[in-house]
Amino acid sequence: MKERAVALLRRFYGYSEFRPLQLDIITTAACGRDCVVLMPTGGGKSICYQIPALLTDGGVTVVVSPLIALMKDQVTALTANGIPAAAVNSMQTEAENHNILQQLFTGRIKILYISPERLLMEIDRWSRDLPISLIAIDEAHCISQWGHDFRPDYTRLSRLKELYPHVPVMALTATADRLTRDDIARQLCLRDPATFIGSFDRPNISLRVMNNPGKSQRLRYIAMLIDRYRHDSGIVYCISRKSAESMNNELLGMGYKSVVYHAGLSIEERNRAQDRFINGDVQVVCATVAFGMGIDKSNIRWVVHNNMPRNIESYYQEIGRAGRDGVKAEATMFYSYADIITLQGFVDESGQQAINSEKLKRMQEYAESSLCRRRILLSYFNETMDHDCGNCDVCLNPPERMDGTVIALKAMSAIIRTEGKVGFTMLIDILRGASKRDLIDRGYDRIKTYGAGRDLSYPEWNSYLSQLIQLGLIDIAYNENNHLKVTAYGAIVLRDRTPVTLAQYKEPERRKTARGRKEV
Ligand code: ADP
Ligand code: ZN
Repeated sequence: MKERAVALLRRFYGYSEFRPLQLDIITTAACGRDCVVLMPTGGGKSICYQIPALLTDGGVTVVVSPLIALMKDQVTALTANGIPAAAVNSMQTEAENHNILQQLFTGRIKILYISPERLLMEIDRWSRDLPISLIAIDEAHCISQWGHDFRPDYTRLSRLKELYPHVPVMALTATADRLTRDDIARQLCLRDPATFIGSFDRPNISLRVMNNPGKSQRLRYIAMLIDRYRHDSGIVYCISRKSAESMNNELLGMGYKSVVYHAGLSIEERNRAQDRFINGDVQVVCATVAFGMGIDKSNIRWVVHNNMPRNIESYYQEIGRAGRDGVKAEATMFYSYADIITLQGFVDESGQQAINSEKLKRMQEYAESSLCRRRILLSYFNETMDHDCGNCDVCLNPPERMDGTVIALKAMSAIIRTEGKVGFTMLIDILRGASKRDLIDRGYDRIKTYGAGRDLSYPEWNSYLSQLIQLGLIDIAYNENNHLKVTAYGAIVLRDRTPVTLAQYKEPERRKTARGRKEV
């Protein structure tokens, strides 16, 4: 069977070798065993179900996918390679769909792409008369509430095993932590599935986090990326529709070719934006999380997160859209406490507080870490990496340590003197002795620590306060207007004057752009 699989790979796809795991997955499925396949985007999942479809003589391979827009491309690519494939979905006329469903029974179609809702409509009609050799469930994380893209239609797919208990099911996804993975297998009623986990490492994508850059710094940075990769493209992910719109307008105003994409646009507008991006009419898309599922564009060279994402799965999937050709790509996240506060609000409304809050915390740890970022990312997916990556900001520019005792004491005593009633920004203003109206109205210019931290800039204080939070000396009370508090541990440090070590704040490095201007 292995030789036949390799022969099919050469003949139909023109590749000489399988990537790791592909052959194992193919032979396991072809032998009739259920599989869970976890492989990053661009890892080569499609071949894992397409080749088994070619290996078996009779029967059709049914591929369930929520990405209706992409089915056509897949079918076109397959038929161009001489593989009889077709799709049934709501983007085609009923006559077309009907025609294809008829042809299924003649055995001429080897691979059928179908949306979950349509499959559930048809399946009772087919019942057992249609020989199915394999059922592949793409984007299988959609079945799980633990996943980040839950789709209720998917949960009814458990019917498949009831109706076709002997047909192997292959569940494929690019994003699933352990909980989601187990949930997928359970909900689809898989029987003793073989689980395959491909490496999530994408070493060609450099990783970087910028702590709380200002608006103009953000724009300059994005402009620098567009200039650096002027013939390729990039994505700016924004936290809301509004901020995606405003980012788009800023970039258009700077003369760049940009387009906006979010779920508030009509389907036509979204399709047009996506097409313009895929065709290379625009250099950048400013988008919300609504953008990108199934995007297969090889020359996306950079991804900027204008805000921190909700969890590491989303982040990983979003940056994974860059560098799919294996060539160098850049992923940068702008991060600020304002993001955490907004995201914490989303978590509170999510109805899944415990898990989502934990996931948000892990994302925050990634953003604030002074350890190799790739190690953190991979360890999240239970992959171990025993060396630093050398391609993230921490590796390239390791933080220097310094004595932060005085800084910690000033910050904590300012929090105590304001009775834990101020947030991040105002605390910095107090420490820096800013003469802002509401600060003065509240009498904070008369406390002892007012101006005690004048020697440090706003970004320095921002970094050190973040670190004090990470160290557990101070905390943000999310349920009390995000006011800062000294923790019990912080109080002990304050009392005992325990030495505190902090990572030295570093100015964002300056780089020359193609135009020779100084840019951040
Ligand atoms: P996924 O569905 O996991 O995101 P795809 O199945 O779309 O990934 O594959 C990504 C790209 O990798 C495609 O261009 C595909 O043709 C290519 N590819 C897959 N398997 C191989 C292989 N064995 N050798 C070379 N290229 C491959
Ligand atoms: Zn690293």
